[in-house]
Amino acid sequence: MHPKLVTGGCVCGGVRYRIDFAPEHDWKRAPHTCQCTQCRKMSGALVLHFHTVQTKEITWVSKTTYAEYNSSANFFRAFCKSCGSSIAWIDRSVDSDTEIELMAGTFDEEFLVGDRDEKDKPLGAYAMALGKSQGRPLLSQE
Ligand SMILES: [Zn+2]
Ligand SMILES: [Zn+2]
Repeated sequence: MHPKLVTGGCVCGGVRYRIDFAPEHDWKRAPHTCQCTQCRKMSGALVLHFHTVQTKEITWVSKTTYAEYNSSANFFRAFCKSCGSSIAWIDRSVDSDTEIELMAGTFDEEFLVGDRDEKDKPLGAYAMALGKSQGRPLLSQE
């Protein structure tokens, strides 16, 4: 079960986005994890969950506090300069500037967890579709 759209952003709300998934969105390839040195060190977590979206699928609703850190040649890490939340990882190499690696933890709770009925039964959420890595883990010393 896949969502048609999701919203997300940083902790303080200075950075907000909306994703309208294209019909050809690759739901098998998009959710993945990374355990490279940069991801581990910058997040403080052993594993980072990403969801790849096409740049045409994302609308930046607010970029008031959006900033990027040029972490290595052609690679940028998007974050909120007010609350410090990590947002995305972007490869600006000439041939790959069509995608953005969104950090899956920035999706809003209503899409990850979903609403619950009066018996506390989940009515449907998309945590699995958005965040479950389907066998493309990266582990390297970058
Ligand atoms: Zn923020
Ligand atoms: Zn990484």
